Amino acid sequence: MESEFVAWLRARLPAHERLRLGPGDDAAVLRLGDRASCVVTVDLLTDGVDFHVGQASPRRIGHKSLAVNLSDLAAMAARPLAVVVALALPRHGGRELAEGLYEGMLPLAEQFDVVIAGGDTNSWDGPLVVSITAIGEVTSHGPLLRSGAKPGDQIVVTGAFGGSILGHHFDFTPRVDEALKLNERYDLHAGIDVSDGLSIDLSRLAKESGCGAVITESLIPIAPAAEQLAAQLNDRSTPLDHALGDGEDFELILAVAPPEAERMIAEQPIDAPLTRIGHFVETPGLWQIDPAGNQRPVTPRGWEHELN
Ligand SMILES: [Mg+2]
Repeated sequence: MESEFVAWLRARLPAHERLRLGPGDDAAVLRLGDRASCVVTVDLLTDGVDFHVGQASPRRIGHKSLAVNLSDLAAMAARPLAVVVALALPRHGGRELAEGLYEGMLPLAEQFDVVIAGGDTNSWDGPLVVSITAIGEVTSHGPLLRSGAKPGDQIVVTGAFGGSILGHHFDFTPRVDEALKLNERYDLHAGIDVSDGLSIDLSRLAKESGCGAVITESLIPIAPAAEQLAAQLNDRSTPLDHALGDGEDFELILAVAPPEAERMIAEQPIDAPLTRIGHFVETPGLWQIDPAGNQRPVTPRGWEHELN
């Protein structure tokens, strides 16, 4: 499993004075030159896994490829600076595909003032692979790590969850501005973006913080797309199931002390709704409180890459 491999890698990599934070968070934090904190992250998207060439336009694929990267910088509350783009293109139609991908990236890069600094473009007999490396800078309010949640902290999320496969996973705007604003205005203890699923990414944050998390089912903001998908699939899955496990919502999960959380919720300082969905506890694990008030342990659900 990917998480076990990352655990191996973290143990295997030597410590280095330039490395403030290595693998395992949404991005690495480095000391570079006279910069105390640079943030770097890389994503790899593959035809057939993250998108299907032929079902989505190259522009949408390009937008998504950059947006998922910027979402990881948002999860660190880092300001995006520059990206480099590596493409492995199928031999047939590669040039047109590459241009379409860049046409999809450029408006998003402009929106967030991100420099597309270069990259590498190859062709091969395999499917399209897009890998983008993004560099960001930490603000004076520091990087937002997964490891800072404390028992008693509230779980605050942006936006709504579930059903992203119906379109949101291509067309979302990464929560960069929201993360910077929230990190500037409030004392955030920890954060992560939801790429693989609300429950699995929450459990990852809790695990890195050495605590557990309790979520209240009735408080979870369910996206209209989750309702739509549950109705379409007719497989007994509920909108709540989709909200908890679908992934690619690219919303933020934040750990915030209770008075600060109350202030955030009252002020609603960003365009997306801020919702409190539960709290962190000392005992490791993930629990759900159902509408009857019963608390039971749940297995985190979401997307995990298999490594065998
Ligand atoms: Mg992430």
